[in-house]
Amino acid sequence: MIDEKFDAIVVGAGPAGNACALTMAQRGMKVLQLERGEYPGSKNVQGAILYADALDKLIPDFREDAPLERHVIEQRLWMMDDRSTSSMQYRSEDFNEEKPNRYTIIRAPFDKWFSRRVQAAGAIVICETTVTELVQEVDGRVIGVRTDRLGGFIRADVVVLAEGVNGLLGERAGLRSVPKPSTVALAVKEMHFIPRETIESRFNLEGDEGVVIEAAGTITKGMTGTAFIYTNKESLSVGIGCLVSDFAETKETPYGLLERFKQHPSVKPLLTGSEVKEYAAHMIPEGGYNAIPQLFGHGWVVVGDAGQFVNAVHREGSNLAMTTGRIAGEAVFQVKSRREAPTAENLSRYKQMLDATFVMKDMKKYKDLPGALHNKHYFTTYPHLLSQAMQTWFRVDGVDKKAKENEIVKSFVKTRSFTGLLSDAWTMARAWR
Ligand SMILES: Cc1cc2nc3c(=O)[nH]c(=O)nc-3n(C[C@H](O)[C@H](O)[C@H](O)COP(=O)(O)OP(=O)(O)OC[C@H]3O[C@@H](n4cnc5c(N)ncnc54)[C@H](O)[C@@H]3O)c2cc1C
Repeated sequence: MIDEKFDAIVVGAGPAGNACALTMAQRGMKVLQLERGEYPGSKNVQGAILYADALDKLIPDFREDAPLERHVIEQRLWMMDDRSTSSMQYRSEDFNEEKPNRYTIIRAPFDKWFSRRVQAAGAIVICETTVTELVQEVDGRVIGVRTDRLGGFIRADVVVLAEGVNGLLGERAGLRSVPKPSTVALAVKEMHFIPRETIESRFNLEGDEGVVIEAAGTITKGMTGTAFIYTNKESLSVGIGCLVSDFAETKETPYGLLERFKQHPSVKPLLTGSEVKEYAAHMIPEGGYNAIPQLFGHGWVVVGDAGQFVNAVHREGSNLAMTTGRIAGEAVFQVKSRREAPTAENLSRYKQMLDATFVMKDMKKYKDLPGALHNKHYFTTYPHLLSQAMQTWFRVDGVDKKAKENEIVKSFVKTRSFTGLLSDAWTMARAWR
């Protein structure tokens, strides 16, 4: 039983919770962080690309001792049909910079390291402890939490919900609704271990350089989703994810899709000889701006995946988690330092501050995209058409180039119709603006 009162209790030790706990502890607040996993990161799944900018704002010297895998110098975007891959690739020597902008990481060691920094800043972190309930007054004010282990209830001025996408606490307390199956993806991921030199020769890398591949197309069998391959030092992270509502409708399984992806002629040679040592599944919130719940109330704020903060188009989540966590921590600190009560009105500062950041601006920009992307033609018809067009274009077969151009245009109009093409282009352009 802990009978002291805290300035803040943070539920969850993922990137959002760690960023928030660190920010508040660094400012001298009395912070308790509770994590249900055996250790921070033990329950967490991510690709994972770390976007350095968000972490730089919290721990500027993180490159000195954080468990980073490779810095990303090359990004490949693949559009696949069953036999072919059309690729857009960007590689630059500029990414071999003193402070690289993106790294691959493995979440378990990374979260552990992050948590050590949180503890060093003065927060108390207790693992293997599930918060079972938010304690509320009759008027709805949140005044603390109850756990499965520590007995009684623990008081705090503010509770930070950093419990991830699947967090039940906020839902049970009626602070947010259960995410709809059409707004959450289910992703599976495997770790393929391969010797370092093999990764470097297969991906044309030197030292700690890394490549990340994002893939879409018929690999998801018409469902809205993507796959990925990320290079770590001595392993590859390979995964795929689609909307839960699509899985329910098609009866496809995530594992079945992943097996199929691994057998694709563009993927199989990259994985040859690898040893699979880990398999994990996790949800990703993909409802975008329109799915963001109420973010603050009397005595509580929501950060990270629990607030649906994922930019699915750019595959960004952990940086949004860290940024929302940091901003929430700053807002809570401001309320405390001004000796204000943690009312909904005072904590609304968090939302105001967040509105001015890239997080809300990006979420808003892509607000119509989740709906627009729910179109099976993007994942079946267009990958086929693109592949056919590429073949027509690249084969040298005595057909003149003008005839080839006409054939490509005709194939698009014949397959999708002129109005279909216009409608898809219009919907996408509007959603992208
Ligand atoms: C397969 C996959 C690939 C991804 N790839 C990327 C990527 O490459 N780059 C990127 O930026 N993002 C990526 N993401 C998204 C990213 O992982 C999330 O956006 C990020 O982890 C969100 O952080 P969070 O702290 O909000 O939640 P989480 O990381 O989910 O952490 C929540 C924590 O709360 C704990 N918890 C939950 N409930 C309780 C409770 N009641 N009591 C105590 N503890 C509790 C959990 O155990 C967990 O540790 C990926 C996600 C998946 C699934």
